[in-house]
Amino acid sequence: MTADVLVIGGSVGGLTTVEALRGKGFRGTVQVVGAEAHLPYDRPPLSKKILSGIWDEEQVRLRGQQELDALDAEFLLGCRAVRLDVEAHGVVLEDGQKLGYGRLVLATGLTPRTLPGAGSLRGAWVLRTLEDSTGLRAQLLTARDVAIIGAGVLGCEVAATAREMGLNVTLIDPNPTPMWRQTGAAIGQVLSGLHAARGVRLLMGTRTTCLLDDNGWVTGVGIKGGETVPADVVVVTIGSIPATDWLVGSGLTLNDGIVCDERGRAAPDVYAVGDVARWSDERTGVSTRLENRTNAVQQAVFVAGDITGAQDSYQPVPYFWTDQYDVRIQVFGSLPEDAHVRLIDGTTESRKFVMVAEKEGQAVGVVGWNSAKAVMAAKNAYLS
Ligand SMILES: Cc1cc2nc3c(=O)[nH]c(=O)nc-3n(C[C@H](O)[C@H](O)[C@H](O)COP(=O)(O)OP(=O)(O)OC[C@H]3O[C@@H](n4cnc5c(N)ncnc54)[C@H](O)[C@@H]3O)c2cc1C
Repeated sequence: MTADVLVIGGSVGGLTTVEALRGKGFRGTVQVVGAEAHLPYDRPPLSKKILSGIWDEEQVRLRGQQELDALDAEFLLGCRAVRLDVEAHGVVLEDGQKLGYGRLVLATGLTPRTLPGAGSLRGAWVLRTLEDSTGLRAQLLTARDVAIIGAGVLGCEVAATAREMGLNVTLIDPNPTPMWRQTGAAIGQVLSGLHAARGVRLLMGTRTTCLLDDNGWVTGVGIKGGETVPADVVVVTIGSIPATDWLVGSGLTLNDGIVCDERGRAAPDVYAVGDVARWSDERTGVSTRLENRTNAVQQAVFVAGDITGAQDSYQPVPYFWTDQYDVRIQVFGSLPEDAHVRLIDGTTESRKFVMVAEKEGQAVGVVGWNSAKAVMAAKNAYLS
C-alpha cells in the first residue's frame, strides 16, 4: 500500500503528527509503523509513576482505543522498519512488507547506551521502554542496594524514585554535579544538596571501570581508584543514541540524529521529528537535537502544518521538566556550564526559586524549582 503520509515510530512524536494532521483537516491515508507492540504510551512516567508503582500500565497510555480509531489511521505495531529507499519513496518492514508513501515522517526516538557486558547481566538495566520500567521495578522491590551509573536527568529521577522506595542508592558520575550537562554547576550544586539530604550517596567526579557479577548476576560497580560499590541492581543511564541504524545507506544525512533543515525536512518528502531529529535553527543556523517530550510534540505539530501547507516558521523556546522527590524543575532555553546564573525569585534553601542564566550579558535560559507561575513569567520576560 502507498499511504499519503507514512509515520515510522508509534510514540509521542509519531502519534502527535497524526493527530495534528487530522486536526488541520488532512483527509489523506495515514499509516503508522511502530516497533513496540504497545499502543502509544508516554515515557516520562517510566522513571517516576510507573517505576514507583503509583500508576499501572493502563495509565501510561497516551490515548484510548476509541481516540486512536477516530484518527482513521492504520497502526502497524510490533513491526520494525528496516530499510528506506528515498528515491523510490518506499519503506521495507522486518516482516518483508513494502510500504510506499507520499510523505514520510521519521519519529524513531533513541536507543539507550549501555556498558560493555551489561546487556547480558541480570540485575543490570537501562530504562527506555515500559518493559524496562516494570522489569526494573520488580527487581527493585526485592533489592537493597542500587547503583545508578550516570547522573543526568534520567539517573537523578531513578535515584529519587529508588530512594523513595527505601533502597540504598549510590549515584555515580564523572562530572562534578548531577545534571551537569543540562543545568551546569549552580543548579547542580542545589541538586547535589537535594539528593544528599534524601540519603543518596553521591559519587560525583567518579568514573566507572566495570560491572561486577557472580554467575551472571550483577553484584556491584567497580570505580576508578579500585573501590567497589556493592549493588543488587545497577541502572545504566549514560545517555542514548538516535535510532537511525536502519537508515544507513538510505541517502539521508545522519550525524548524531537525522539532519534536517529548519522545517524538519531531511530529504524531499521526508521529515524527522522528536528525539531522533536534528533540526537547523532558522535564526542561528545551528543544528540541534533535543531529547524532551515538549520538543517531540512541537516538531510534530509543525511538520503536520508543513505537510498541510502552512508557511509559518519554527522558533520555540526549548523546554523540559523533571520531577525528583517533591521537586519539579522546569528549564526554558539552555543553561550552559559557563553561563552566569543569578537568583531572581525565592531561595534555594526553600527549594522554591527561579534563576536566570546569562552569557555575555544576554539571557539564555531560566530555571524554576517548584515555581510554575514564576518561571513562566521569567521565561516571558527574559526569553521571548
Ligand atoms: C524514562 C524516561 C523519562 C523521561 N522523562 C521526561 C521528562 O520528565 N520530561 C521530558 O521532557 N522528557 C522526558 N523523557 C523524554 C521523552 O520521553 C522523549 O523526549 C519522547 O518520548 C520523545 O518522543 P519520540 O516520539 O521522539 O521518541 P520515542 O518516545 O523514543 O518513540 C520512538 C518510537 O519509535 C520506535 N522505533 C524505533 N525504531 C523503529 C523502527 N526502525 N521502526 C519502527 N519503529 C521504531 C520505538 O520503538 C519507539 O516506540 C523521558 C524519557 C524516558 C525514557
